[in-house]
Amino acid sequence: MEKVIQNIMSLCKRRGFIFPSAEIYGGLNGVYDYGYLGAELKKNLKQAWWHQMLFSDLDIFSFDAAVLTPKKVLQASGHLGAGFEDKLVECKSCHKRFKADEVQGSKCPECGGELAEPKNFNLMMKVPIGVTGDTASMAYLRPETCQGIFVNFKNIVSTLRAKIPFGVAQVGKSFRNEINPKNFVFRTREFEQMEMEWFCEPIQSDKWFDYWLEKRLSWYYKLGIKKDNLRVQEVPKEERAHYAIRQVDIEYSFPFGWKEIEGVHNRGDWDLSNHSKFSGENLKYLAPEGDREFSPYVIETSVGVERALFAFLCEAFTQVEGGRTKTTESNKEVEFLLRLHKSLAPVKVLVLPLVRNKPEVVKKAKEVYKLLKPHFLCQYDEKGSIGRRYRRGDEIGVPFSITIDFDTLKRDDVTIRDRDTMKQERIKIKNLLALLNKYLKGTINDK
Ligand code: ATP
Repeated sequence: MEKVIQNIMSLCKRRGFIFPSAEIYGGLNGVYDYGYLGAELKKNLKQAWWHQMLFSDLDIFSFDAAVLTPKKVLQASGHLGAGFEDKLVECKSCHKRFKADEVQGSKCPECGGELAEPKNFNLMMKVPIGVTGDTASMAYLRPETCQGIFVNFKNIVSTLRAKIPFGVAQVGKSFRNEINPKNFVFRTREFEQMEMEWFCEPIQSDKWFDYWLEKRLSWYYKLGIKKDNLRVQEVPKEERAHYAIRQVDIEYSFPFGWKEIEGVHNRGDWDLSNHSKFSGENLKYLAPEGDREFSPYVIETSVGVERALFAFLCEAFTQVEGGRTKTTESNKEVEFLLRLHKSLAPVKVLVLPLVRNKPEVVKKAKEVYKLLKPHFLCQYDEKGSIGRRYRRGDEIGVPFSITIDFDTLKRDDVTIRDRDTMKQERIKIKNLLALLNKYLKGTINDK
């Protein structure tokens, strides 16, 4: 595995962003738990997404459907058929299994043994419901969040009196029994998706497709992804998802290559017309003039929370040989830094007494911490040299550090240090809150 990925993984574990799930029992392949910093980072990422969806001049409504999904829904959507199958190959010697499109030739990439003929493998996860556990009461964990939106189309239109074009946005867990989960949180068996389904007139769907693709790209740029690190790939017909009449993958340049982080799909009327057919319900949309009924087309933007989070971590991760900040312990080590966008950074402000053996300084620092804590996620740190503490904050991406020193006691001012430029300025405590508000607000999450 690439050294940089190893460094990111070890930072995530060491600092409490991401842990392999149930590690004390040997873990569960392709499943991860998120600690305080990881949970906050995820939350901020989702908030930034919601912000783009809900705070615009378009009509987009939120939704929260159940994870447990009856078989019929997934038969109608095509997920229980060949559309949602991967080709699996198994090594006859070591019995390792691979996605067929990930192996070249007929030899096992692990042991060189002979590979068996590819078999179809459905990625859905079955759950027995109720006490009997027989096939009659079998449900599924949803493989994508959007089906809950389509089956509720009638409810949504009638309760909201929604007029086309409009969107329905949802964030939630999805599950896929991936053959080979890999690359840390890139491909996992349990993950979250942020999906928006945009219902429009069929004739307008190409226009809206371009609109949403642009919008989604600009979202990544605003949150700090460099233009060179994103590319758009038009997916040819034979490789598209079973429901897509047009599909574009937004790819990020990960250290292990260009990989999809988001799909923009024109699903046509695949879902609504199939659900109409299978359920017997009329899921057509009645134009407000009352003169025609039609099946709207759906433009979908679909991104995995953890996959996007991983891309943002790769983008922010910076390694400085020899370090940027002098420490008394050593200034020759490699320094890790997360240049996360201010909206994404889990902790916004670090409060540091210059020394911890002067009770007046510590007392003042605690007062400042108390002042800021109700407004921003803050951390108080008094252990180790000031340089080392700055580095600890930089490593988890804290945008601003406040230092309380001897001059604070005389002049009631503090130093505020910027993570990226390392510039420091002196500011009166009475003005601190307003200044931090200015620096931290105006970010993407603001209305
Ligand atoms: P892939 O080709 O990588 O399996 P996909 O084309 O099947 O992905 P979609 O069904 O379009 O993916 O899902 C939309 C988004 O959901 C993906 O772009 C990705 O961000 C996320 N996603 C899908 N599968 C996984 C997974 N196993 N782990 C993490 N995220 C996932």
